[in-house]
Amino acid sequence: MIQRIRVSSSTGQQLQEITDRINAALRQANVSEGICHVYVPHTTAGIVVNENADPAVCVDMLAWLDKAVPQDDHYRHAEGNSPAHIKATLVGQWATLPVEGGKLVLGTWQGVYLAEFDGPRERTVIVNVVRSDG
Ligand code: ZN
Repeated sequence: MIQRIRVSSSTGQQLQEITDRINAALRQANVSEGICHVYVPHTTAGIVVNENADPAVCVDMLAWLDKAVPQDDHYRHAEGNSPAHIKATLVGQWATLPVEGGKLVLGTWQGVYLAEFDGPRERTVIVNVVRSDG
């Protein structure tokens, strides 16, 4: 079962936690056990699993990506958003996670994030659950 989640960003770069929204989609699909594939069909956004306790982790991650991928580096892409394309490629566009008890199996400090690198804009996140609970 495929479901779509709409996520709006408010700044150019942002990590927005979507764990609760994915778990809500799992409840709607009435899946108790299986595999959840979370995918963002965009070239300047990604999916990240990282710490959701200290917000400074997200700040540090975006700051590190800014250093690793300079804003101006003689890119050829005429749209002018090559850094966003590169960052999205580096973090990847999907995560595959186990589902147990009707929700994602995550560590105590883990959350799933939509990584926006070319905002603000609205994105679609695709949640596809493959059930193994019969
Ligand atoms: Zn582009």
